[in-house]
Amino acid sequence: MSEELATLFSKIGLNETKTQEILKNKKVSKSFAEIIEEGKLSDIVDDKKIALLHSLATESKGAEIPHRELVTKAIVDGRLKTNLQVSEAFKYVKANPETANNADLESNSGVGVELSEGQVKNEIVNYIQSNKEDIETKRYSCVPAILGQVKKIPELKWAAPNLFKPIIDEEILKLLGPKDERDTVKKEKKKPAKKEAKASETKKEETSASGERSMFSEGFLGDLHKPGQNPQMYPELMKEHLKATGGKVFTRFPPEPNGYLHIGHSKAIMVNFGYAKFHDGVCYLRFDDTNPEAEEERYFTSILDMVDWLGFEPWKVTYSSDYFDELYALAERLIENDRGYVCHCTPEQVKLQRGQKPDGTLGGERFACEHRSKSKEQNLEEFRKMRNGFYKPGEATLRMKQDLESDSPQMWDLVAYRVLNAPHHRTGDKWKIYPTYDFTHCLVDSFENISHSLCTTEFILSRESYEWLCDVLKVYRPAQREYGRLNITGTILSKRKIAKLVNEGIVRGWDDPRLYTLEAIRRRGVPPGAILSFINTLGVTTNTTNIQEVRFESAVRSYLDQTTPRLMMILDPVKVVIENLEDSFSEDVEIPYKPGANSDPKFGGNRTLKFTNTIYIDRSDFRDDSTPSKDYFRLTPNQPVGLMKVPFNIAVKSVEKDSEGNVLCIHATYLNKEGEHKKPKTFIQWLPSGEGSIKIDEIRVQNRLFNSENPSAHPDGFLSDINPNSEEIYTNAIIESSFLDVKKRSPLNVKIADSEFNIEEKSGRPETVRFQALRVGYFCMDKDSTDNKLIFNRIVTLKEDSGKN
Ligand code: ATP
Ligand code: MG
Repeated sequence: MSEELATLFSKIGLNETKTQEILKNKKVSKSFAEIIEEGKLSDIVDDKKIALLHSLATESKGAEIPHRELVTKAIVDGRLKTNLQVSEAFKYVKANPETANNADLESNSGVGVELSEGQVKNEIVNYIQSNKEDIETKRYSCVPAILGQVKKIPELKWAAPNLFKPIIDEEILKLLGPKDERDTVKKEKKKPAKKEAKASETKKEETSASGERSMFSEGFLGDLHKPGQNPQMYPELMKEHLKATGGKVFTRFPPEPNGYLHIGHSKAIMVNFGYAKFHDGVCYLRFDDTNPEAEEERYFTSILDMVDWLGFEPWKVTYSSDYFDELYALAERLIENDRGYVCHCTPEQVKLQRGQKPDGTLGGERFACEHRSKSKEQNLEEFRKMRNGFYKPGEATLRMKQDLESDSPQMWDLVAYRVLNAPHHRTGDKWKIYPTYDFTHCLVDSFENISHSLCTTEFILSRESYEWLCDVLKVYRPAQREYGRLNITGTILSKRKIAKLVNEGIVRGWDDPRLYTLEAIRRRGVPPGAILSFINTLGVTTNTTNIQEVRFESAVRSYLDQTTPRLMMILDPVKVVIENLEDSFSEDVEIPYKPGANSDPKFGGNRTLKFTNTIYIDRSDFRDDSTPSKDYFRLTPNQPVGLMKVPFNIAVKSVEKDSEGNVLCIHATYLNKEGEHKKPKTFIQWLPSGEGSIKIDEIRVQNRLFNSENPSAHPDGFLSDINPNSEEIYTNAIIESSFLDVKKRSPLNVKIADSEFNIEEKSGRPETVRFQALRVGYFCMDKDSTDNKLIFNRIVTLKEDSGKN
């Protein structure tokens, strides 16, 4: 019975831990099964809805409730969105067994009541105002209580609960200012050291000392089983497994070396390496190299490099091909156990056997082929002939004898081995046959004693064949568990499409900073720590995470803001000659690399710029227009301006132009006489002339590569969605010569306080030379730079909306 329920629950997407938990309560499981029936659910339901259905089951406690299906349906079609609504709706049907109807249910549970963020904010502000004194005494420690109280305000009954916290945080910040030592001391005391927490087997704190949430202790990863708890068909195998691992977490990151990794893979890297590290376990980097035709040396090297760049160290680097002998032996065992047969059908015949109808869809009648009933001896003989090169590719495959009656296509006699006349990167021409993914993956996981085989949700159906194969071969069965992929929208990640951009010369290569391969992201200057904290904030669930480029960029920006020094750089310089200063005049101007009293000494303290009678400013900081303007505060013929950190303002005296009206030089006056100085409307950047600044040969300002959020959906193909201004080049730019000092000291490896994701970057790579160009953006050195040529990339803009057209 409970097995049936478990299947039913897993069909709608419950993970095993949850399922086991629910099964412990007979009444709740009974109700849950009825609810699944009522809702006619036969497919994966999203996590939120599952949670709501579960809470409905919990409230029902096994009782028969007439008209409960009204509640179930309202959850399934999305009308009921919160636990509170479900609970009110349930109360209503329970109280009205005879007359329950949809309209009353909706009004009792607040369906369709939409409170705007503004309304919610008003209520919260009122609450905070009337409890101001109390809040000021208790400070940040009372935030949870405020959250609880605010939820009880009748006007907010139907407000979306996720609105509360951000608004409270914002208002409290306004009232109290940022957290200070009064707010942090207590918290640190409370947090147990990692080791202690583990020893006492308590659930780990959900946040780190900095208040950062950890993807490893909550969500999908937080719910995973402990080593040793994954069920086995043959329990004695678990003993051996635990002996081999010492009860530690063993994971693996298993890329196919057939392309460059992309941003999505960084999630897989973090999930596998990070989960192991978090639990003091180990993680393999395993190259899944069973497809010799697609593999290339450069991919192996790049993958190793990227794992290292993201700050992880494989426990061991292995290759599926290391196990070809063992895999072959198990294939013979499969035949000996009468679970494998050599098949000579064509792909078309196999499709028919699997129930493919003439229109290409599945669902027709399935049937076994004549080869399925051969004797073990005959199969063994033919399999050895396959190995010995007797058959050409396509003439024979080894198939698993599974279950054609099963509902899952993964059980319809999958191919285990195929003939391929291709030499292999590592085994040369030793093999004429190669194992498939379905045969290899679970068995190599088993050989390597993997405790958690974490992969993405497209493998959900494979879980059945994975377990089946381990069981029929009587080997330790690792637990495959599936999490949601990470996608970035507004770009493309597919290898084939990127290859097209590269081959047609639309981008500079696989590592062009406008792309989202990891090589590209690295070249663009994104720090590896920024990627990890970004993925951590997204968390891991079973749903696919689709993220817009701008959200990724905003995470990178905030990371760079905390870790880069600031320099003055001018994209389009204009000379300014200050007429009332002598040629010999020179004043040292001290500017901190990073303003703020407590900034890390690694930023470099202060640097000195020489202010003389000839300087440069940016062309856009001068407007040759004397009409007063309400929104232009910089230099005009009748509006003086301040120069960053220079004591007095400058005013325009005259402007020199070429025949086309372009400004060649501005003659100016330094307003340093008694009584002349006024607070300027704004300060602009400037650079010293002479040795104080250096020329940058090329600045590449990268913008979005595509115009739309979904380039692949363009009716004329993704190439038609290319943004023609995706790379702007500046060749006249200059930067203060302190850049050379920053360059020499890079990578600065400034740490973000309390973050778990600080990665020590190695020296010698151009992109680790990063800085904020004041008012222009974040930049780094490009790998095309040489000893006498400087090339910069823009990593991200300074603010979210600038730079987008
Ligand atoms: P793609 O098809 O996008 O090129 P892939 O699945 O062929 O990727 P693999 O080399 O097989 O790439 O992937 C190695 C691991 O990375 C697998 O466990 C896979 O599930 C995971 N992975 C691949 N793409 C993503 C993604 N977008 N998000 C999270 N994990 C991913
Ligand atoms: Mg793959």
